[in-house]
Amino acid sequence: VGILARPLLALLIRRALLITNPASRRAARLRGTAEQAFAKLGVELTVAETRYAGHAGEIAAARGGEYDAVFTLGGDGTAMEAATALSGSGVPIGVLPGGTGNLLARAVGTPLRIGRAVGALLDGEIRRIDLGRFRPGDTRFAIAAGVGIDASMVERTPVRLKRRFGVMAYVATASRAALSAVIRRDFFTLRLTVDGKVEERRAVAVMIANFGAVLNDRITFGPGIQVDDGVLDACVYSPANLREALGIMWRLLRKDFRSHRSSIYLSGRHIRVETDPPRTYQADGELLGTTPFEVEVEPLAATLLVPRR
Ligand SMILES: [Mg+2]
Repeated sequence: VGILARPLLALLIRRALLITNPASRRAARLRGTAEQAFAKLGVELTVAETRYAGHAGEIAAARGGEYDAVFTLGGDGTAMEAATALSGSGVPIGVLPGGTGNLLARAVGTPLRIGRAVGALLDGEIRRIDLGRFRPGDTRFAIAAGVGIDASMVERTPVRLKRRFGVMAYVATASRAALSAVIRRDFFTLRLTVDGKVEERRAVAVMIANFGAVLNDRITFGPGIQVDDGVLDACVYSPANLREALGIMWRLLRKDFRSHRSSIYLSGRHIRVETDPPRTYQADGELLGTTPFEVEVEPLAATLLVPRR
């Protein structure tokens, strides 16, 4: 593809900032490949390395505005720090798959090979998406926050497995976690408040989803979840027994979201999650703390570079 065939957007990205997290071994290994890809496409690149947690956000906030776009090469944590720092600024963020799970890069369909990812994003389009924001505080998430299946799978999925099999490792681990929660009778009482309405039930997992699908649409969290509709979607999984737990996975894989006593879906702008007993919760694959937690939607807060459909 010659320079004349490149679309308008690519021509607008002349100067880019690449924030890379050398603590991610994949990012460290792929940095040279990324730099070459930018150079080949005629983009003047400045590289900034993060030194500590929170540094990616500081770099993006201090310097992001000087560039046509900010790219991150690290895990989802690095990407979300930059997205949070640039939230509302209109500076587009290109998330390169430089971590182990790469949930965000996968969710927008970015190729996993770095050279191809750089090309696809420079050739891509701009998409504004909602973010979830924890209250109080500044922490945001792009994919999902939750308790149960997703928190357990982050704790239990070995790093080597995540790197090798990516999100499929999460799916396998998630199924196992859901089933084992039922086998161990590891339920909690969930009190979920969505825009003031309270729902209380025994559950094994609850997910607050922003993106409705990851894995190129092979697994979805719930019905009609849109990443730019100004609401978050709570998905509550409460199987009473092994058969119902298997049924949840089966319905997820088949994208069957008809109402069922073992899985309910509620959407709203403000969601509070309380559990008895208290449980750890995570967002975008990072363990964040112990319930209760409260999130609200920030409509169209992040501007992402995504591959063209
Ligand atoms: Mg939504």
